[in-house]
Amino acid sequence: MPQQSISRRRLLKQAGSSLALIPLVTVYQQPAYAAEKITLDHPSAKALGYVHDANEVDVAKFPKRAGEEGAKQFCDNCSQYKETEPGWGTCTIFPNYLVAGPGWCNVWVPVT
Ligand code: SF4
Repeated sequence: MPQQSISRRRLLKQAGSSLALIPLVTVYQQPAYAAEKITLDHPSAKALGYVHDANEVDVAKFPKRAGEEGAKQFCDNCSQYKETEPGWGTCTIFPNYLVAGPGWCNVWVPVT
């Protein structure tokens, strides 16, 4: 019996240690992005023609968004987008920033 109680004590001690790590693990598993909205003067945003409102895309410069099919392209129906708050979300192309759901950039890829 003493052997069994030692094992139980060890088990509880180890379980306690494991439980103590859960908050740390949770913190480190947070997505690595800050909730900062990207600005239009960000060099990558400019290079990729990102805008907060897809209806403002210069289609002469970015013909991908021209025409009937192009007009259906928005960040919130792009495979790179994941909404994190109403109207805004993360984008794998712009890590550490939020992009606008109604926005657009030249990397737009449809959700499959
Ligand atoms: S890759 Fe998609 S979600 Fe990201 S900015 Fe461009 S259109 Fe928006």
